[in-house]
Amino acid sequence: MQSIWRVASTPSRECMTGQETQFESASPSRRDYRCDINCARTTFDVARRCARRPLPVDLRGFTLIEVLVTVLIISIIVTAALVVLSSARHTANQTACAARLRHVGIGVTSYAIDHYGSLPKQYRKSPPAFDSFWMRSPDGDLVNLGLITSYVGVPQAFYCVTQTAATSPRIAYNTAQNPWNVKNALSAFTPALNSSFTVRPGNGARWSVNNHNNKVIYTDFIGVRHFSDSARFPGGLQAPHALKGANRLVGDGSVQWVESEQVHKVHPILNVVATDKLVKDYYKLLDVLP
Ligand SMILES: [Zn+2]
Repeated sequence: MQSIWRVASTPSRECMTGQETQFESASPSRRDYRCDINCARTTFDVARRCARRPLPVDLRGFTLIEVLVTVLIISIIVTAALVVLSSARHTANQTACAARLRHVGIGVTSYAIDHYGSLPKQYRKSPPAFDSFWMRSPDGDLVNLGLITSYVGVPQAFYCVTQTAATSPRIAYNTAQNPWNVKNALSAFTPALNSSFTVRPGNGARWSVNNHNNKVIYTDFIGVRHFSDSARFPGGLQAPHALKGANRLVGDGSVQWVESEQVHKVHPILNVVATDKLVKDYYKLLDVLP
């Protein structure tokens, strides 16, 4: 009975000295250490000692260093993924645009066959004004690429995929400022029907496909044009495809990509009005750049 009373109310020697509480168990020879909340003088020390005992791995939280390293690794992975996605999107747009321009090339070739080797008649006013994007003149006549609408059939083919209503409402496909429908394209007068592709400056009339087998005849390079008499295309001289480059349609029907950097080295791509001479110089450059 005396032994039982000691276990219930009287701490052992270890408890009194600030160590763990030793309880006498049913087997006096076995030391039974436990975290004891009944020992008033040792509760703090014992609790602290208990707190220091390592928890099983699956019950521990993460240290600050572990969290920071994890966040750093995740951010690196996300950044790399975004770069890859951006590059993939650019390549996809480049390819899709080239396919459209190649489609235009088929229409141009077909037109030339039906018109004694002549490319679609250009529309232009006195230099330096250049309406190279117009598919229909203010008089209602089809001009430039507008002349091949019946050969192409797919209106989206006249538009670079990177030109959207949000960024280029006047030269993107079927926007409020550049609405497309059969009526606009083929019969009714409309002051606004513009392609994303600009035509090479020529003599304003007839030009032969045979003389342009190795020359660029259309491109989505925005900067080489005036939009109309006095209106300038917003952004001035610049290239589509996030300024990375442009697609070129050569007279033989092939489509080639050119890096903006290559153009910029010779003719700086600036936000200025494209003069007649500058437009021609750009096209000469597009002829020879790789
Ligand atoms: Zn394009």
